[in-house]
Amino acid sequence: MSLVFDEYGRPFIIFKDQEKQTRTKGLEAIRANIAAATSVSRTMRSSLGPNGMDKLLVSADGDVTVTNDGATILKEMNVNNEVAKLMVDLARSQDDEIGDGTTGVVVLAGALLEQAQQLLDRGMHPSRISDGFDRACALAVDHLEQIAHVLQRSKADTSELVRAAMTALSSKVVNRHSQALAEMCVRAVLAVADLERRDVNLELIKIEGKVGGRLEDSLFVEGIVIDKDMSHPQMPKQVSGAKICILTAPFEPPKPKTKHRLEISSVEQYQELQQAERDYFTSMVKRVKESGANLVICQWGFDDEANSLLYQHDICAVRWVGGVEIELIAMATGGRIIPRFEEITPEKLGHADCVREMHFGTTHDKVIVIEGCHNTRAATILVRGGNKMVLEETKRSLHDALCVVRNLIRDQRIVYGGGASEIACSIVISEAADRCLGPEQYAMRAFAEALDAIPIALAENSGLSPIETLSSIKARQIAEQKTYLGVDCLGIGTMDMREQNVYETLESKKQQLLLATQLCKMILKIDDMLQPNSLN
Ligand code: ADP
Repeated sequence: MSLVFDEYGRPFIIFKDQEKQTRTKGLEAIRANIAAATSVSRTMRSSLGPNGMDKLLVSADGDVTVTNDGATILKEMNVNNEVAKLMVDLARSQDDEIGDGTTGVVVLAGALLEQAQQLLDRGMHPSRISDGFDRACALAVDHLEQIAHVLQRSKADTSELVRAAMTALSSKVVNRHSQALAEMCVRAVLAVADLERRDVNLELIKIEGKVGGRLEDSLFVEGIVIDKDMSHPQMPKQVSGAKICILTAPFEPPKPKTKHRLEISSVEQYQELQQAERDYFTSMVKRVKESGANLVICQWGFDDEANSLLYQHDICAVRWVGGVEIELIAMATGGRIIPRFEEITPEKLGHADCVREMHFGTTHDKVIVIEGCHNTRAATILVRGGNKMVLEETKRSLHDALCVVRNLIRDQRIVYGGGASEIACSIVISEAADRCLGPEQYAMRAFAEALDAIPIALAENSGLSPIETLSSIKARQIAEQKTYLGVDCLGIGTMDMREQNVYETLESKKQQLLLATQLCKMILKIDDMLQPNSLN
């Protein structure tokens, strides 16, 4: 593209390969972008809330995912349009920062854009709309801080944390077991949390899934669980005071990497070879034994000969442990990952109070549990379920709930869910718009209406009449000054979200508002699009 001037000094632009490109300009460009983005958010609306629908997604290689998680739906959805991809990024930002509220942020952004579209149609300039949205967003964030409630948390009483985690789980497939799963999430976060610094490293919490059993059989372990068993059936099933040698070298004689041939012409030579191999194994096992280790965790496999030698020397062993788990075990037990047998020394061993093999009922499923790790605290939630699809969705739901609990450790303020806080903000913004004399008042009113989209979607998804529900809640909120009245999605008989224990973290709600407004402003600012023709 180059800028040139005609003979009168008027500028004009020459595009390279013009015939191969489509150019959309001005309002038309903004309209096209809004249409693309809102089409994404419309698909997400039906997934919002405790009665939200799930989506079934089939990937290019035939993998099936059934999910209710906004970030996952958008990630798996094959979105071609560049602006629609911004919505996908929006959900991802919310997921990275907060971990929960991904569907909500997309629905809100879509509603804001729909409102912006109406204002554009009425002739309002995009930058005026942006300004009005900005003001309204600032007001909403302020108001959220005012109506936020501080959770009283003590070490002994974690019930409020559990309730918050339950709200995150209530919209998922696992909602029938939300109490038990929420309790596990709270225990897991508290197990690894640094309460003084108010920080939680979620990397230390592993969610492990094992097909089989029922969801109720899921359990929490204060330690690490690996989906393996002891390499020899007669090895002890429990090692107390474990000194762990973490190996990334196989228990095998070294093999030359290039092609080789070995010619044996006599029985003696063959026996010599066998002896040499045995010597190798003996020296390997001896090195392990001399270091004082009583458990070997190896990334690779080992020969039967080595296996029985380890057993004879009273050393337990676990083989074929994945790289990620090896790192986690090393980090938690304070051991070093040892790549060569010559480097095994006592100070490189990891330490744990107890390592045991765990069986599940009458099935042959076994896992190894490492408890009481000496270096850092680690926690694992072991999820059981009938099939892989349920397991994966449970894992995603648990991730959301863990994030909610982590956010509450960081900041104990919550606002009420079920659309209650959105309605409260909507009321405040409408009032402010009435007092505002400039043209921003229209954009502010539009923002307030966009906020109503959340309770409307919640009511729609629960089979309630959306307009009636919204207006009755709004009327009561104004009359009774109760900002905790929201949509009674589960038909419990009260709109009081305090009684229903529907909490969301203040951080999450604030982030939703800020991110959605930011995206909307960005889309309103694009007024020229150049695309290769092939994309149309
Ligand atoms: P997200 O991915 O945004 O977390 P969800 O599908 O989990 O989306 O839905 C969250 C919305 O559902 C929030 O607005 C929350 O307040 C609301 N919600 C969750 N549980 C309930 C409930 N029991 N009653 C009413 N609203 C609820």
